Amino acid sequence: MKMKYYSTNQKSHRVSFSEAVVNGLAPDGGLYMPSEYPAFPRGFFNKIGQRSFSENAFQFIRPFIAEIPDADLIQIINDTLTFDAPLVELENKLSVLELFHGPTFAFKDFGARFLARTLAWIIREKDREITILVATSGDTGSAVASGFFGVEGLRVCLLYPSGKVSHIQEQQLTAMGGNVTALEVDGSFDDCQRLVKRAFVDRDLLHSKKLTSANSINIARLLPQSFYYLHAFAQLRNKTDKPIRYCVPSGNFGNLTAGLIAKKCGMPAEYFIAAVNANAVFSEYLQSGLYKPRTSLRTHSNAMDVGDPSNFVRILELYAGNFNPLKNDIRSVSISDSETVETIKSVYSKFNYIIDPHTAVGVAAHFTIKTEKDLHTVVLSTAHPAKFSRIVSAAIRNPVPMPEQLAEYLRRKKHSIKISARFDDLKEFLINS
Ligand SMILES: *Cc1c(COP(=O)(O)O)cnc(C)c1O
Repeated sequence: MKMKYYSTNQKSHRVSFSEAVVNGLAPDGGLYMPSEYPAFPRGFFNKIGQRSFSENAFQFIRPFIAEIPDADLIQIINDTLTFDAPLVELENKLSVLELFHGPTFAFKDFGARFLARTLAWIIREKDREITILVATSGDTGSAVASGFFGVEGLRVCLLYPSGKVSHIQEQQLTAMGGNVTALEVDGSFDDCQRLVKRAFVDRDLLHSKKLTSANSINIARLLPQSFYYLHAFAQLRNKTDKPIRYCVPSGNFGNLTAGLIAKKCGMPAEYFIAAVNANAVFSEYLQSGLYKPRTSLRTHSNAMDVGDPSNFVRILELYAGNFNPLKNDIRSVSISDSETVETIKSVYSKFNYIIDPHTAVGVAAHFTIKTEKDLHTVVLSTAHPAKFSRIVSAAIRNPVPMPEQLAEYLRRKKHSIKISARFDDLKEFLINS
């Protein structure tokens, strides 16, 4: 089998993994999907608990990437998975998968680190440097900045709206240095996105620079997110044989899509819960069969404030547009801000365990959707509570312990270059630097 990638807009147009990664979005505006799903045999999953996190990751991703040889792929995975994703049992039949032990304390580290290293592999031995342009409203940018930091041949320019990201986020964006430059835009997040989009179609720029994006739809950010589903399964299999449901706090639905892909390749999973905040287009879709995107609402779980999830088309594609099988695999519920705060509070008092607002949406969804049979629920914990300490400390009426590495970010010196929201400013900067 030689894996190819096709665009959700045009099935017949197939590209290699490398081309899909460098393009990010397909030229026709579609999202890339794998042409096949390898069927892992039962034996692979029966023995999963005996293998390490990175061994399972390697075996899983091997068939998806035709061109990277074994030794290089193992290196990329080892450089990505420099931290663990432990499964913490809160009570009988409920565990939390902690995905926040990476450098920016959020699960986006997995995808960003893998993407940076695969891109570096793809452009190896080419004499031209690649510039990664990213517009960010916060978390994506810090994961990308950290994931790409120090990777040879890559230069990162982050555009963020001045005064509109949190203090911790701004420190994580601006204190990196090295091959990472933070451009502080006098404008909104939408201005940042507009500037980036325009850069990709500007002839002068394309002539002088090799530009690419690192946005969340990149296939090399999506696929490595399956790794930790396997890792959760492996950890649980060493304890119990109970069937599992996965509960996923969702915004753009990349995280959930990666779980569905693992299931499609044979990973046993009863079903998935897409836990959403007040931005409920997906849960409404499951109820009515109608998809009605709209502008997003602001909530406590702001990384999930998405009114038109970009991976929705990928989910439809996985089920070939068939509503019933999709409904069998995914349930969904919308959780309000007050339920979110209540859940942070009750998890703290019941289990003496502190969760962030995104994880709280997941835990609340678990308690809302009754468990059938003998299911064990794994809730994906997407961020460290200290990143959202204002909301969390108010809920638990206690300070949130700050990890030393996060405190270290806060002590660093901010370095940003201020630019206006005019495209000419960005263009001049990119051409002259
Ligand atoms: C990005 C993000 C999410 C949502 O993940 P999707 O893959 O976009 O659904 C949830 N929680 C946190 C903390 C995030 O940063």
